[in-house]
Amino acid sequence: MTATTNITNHQVRLAQRPVGNPTRDNWSFTAEPVAEPPAGGVLVKTLSLSLDPAMRGWMNDAKSYIAPVAINEVMRAGGIGKVIASHNPKFAVGDLVSAALGVQEYAAFTEEEIKRSGMFRIDPRLGTIAQWLNVLGMPGMTGYFGLLDVGHPKPGDTVVVSGAAGAVGQTVGQLAKIKGCRVVGIAGGRAKCDWVVNELGFDACIDYKAGSVKAGLKEHCPKGVDVYFDNVGGEILDDVLARLARGARIVICGAISQYNNTTAVQGPKNYLSLLVNRASMQGMVVFDYTDRFPVAVAELAGYLKDGRMKSREDIVQGLETFPDALMKLFTGENFGKLVLQVAAD
Ligand code: NAP
Repeated sequence: MTATTNITNHQVRLAQRPVGNPTRDNWSFTAEPVAEPPAGGVLVKTLSLSLDPAMRGWMNDAKSYIAPVAINEVMRAGGIGKVIASHNPKFAVGDLVSAALGVQEYAAFTEEEIKRSGMFRIDPRLGTIAQWLNVLGMPGMTGYFGLLDVGHPKPGDTVVVSGAAGAVGQTVGQLAKIKGCRVVGIAGGRAKCDWVVNELGFDACIDYKAGSVKAGLKEHCPKGVDVYFDNVGGEILDDVLARLARGARIVICGAISQYNNTTAVQGPKNYLSLLVNRASMQGMVVFDYTDRFPVAVAELAGYLKDGRMKSREDIVQGLETFPDALMKLFTGENFGKLVLQVAAD
């Protein structure tokens, strides 16, 4: 039998699969004693969790790049935590680690689970905990490899990125500027558009909630779009397809406009633009690049340090707020990378 500590672990579990938008009924809240980590294992106290649009997909019983979360399983989440007990020589008590912690206050790992979860120690000198979930974390890695390995931007290219003020979008746009491109964001609302232009240095931003994306693209991309980094799919993808430059590359990173659909995903109507423009459209999954994360982290941390890159996080407090906090991603209420702070330290 596994020995337990006298610490209580509060958890959020998937109670039911949602139809359309997730609701509070889809979740259950549980409490159980924390298990002692086994030989070779560690016990981690959750500090902050990454709330991601992908969580919506993990709630569906459907084939994807990762298995769905099972009913009554603790909801999957990446996060940063502190090692509070260790029987593993690679991790010491007090280490800050990044791992798949789940939506819970404590996570015990066997040696095998440490390997499987890709747990690694973070260096707090390179960025704050929230930045380690943003530019230096999974969204930053997505932006880095999606833009550079799939988008192949060249200096002078016009790069368009949707979800521009979000976690992935802010890295993509700033990195494209650093690589010498013209960058046009697409975001919802004046405040987000003003921020990416005035603070992050994008050349322009189209507020898709205020007017026609098509007209905005015509105005801001007079020579067409060389790279489109797509975070949203749907109609905006179709609008960009209609404005491609010859040889354009479209990075299919996500399609958040479609994740809560109760009907079929809206596919691109204007795909023949790929033919006319000798263009390509390619999907990417960040986990294919894990071996190269350290290279990307070093480069992005350098930009954060020298001020060429900024980051913005939207930090929500408390495990119990998880169901409502998650929904911010789909209403656009999050401004910057959405982080759930579970404990201060
Ligand atoms: P995020 O951009 O920080 O947050 C989501 C944003 O999406 C919202 O703030 C909202 O911004 C926008 N949005 C929501 N509903 C929308 C709609 N109907 N139409 C247009 N925009 C909408 O999220 P993120 O973590 O950076 O993720 C961005 C995308 O990347 C998602 O599609 C996600 O699934 C994908 N992703 C993919 C990978 C991969 O490996 N392929 C990895 C990470 C993330 P506005 O206020 O601007 O509408």
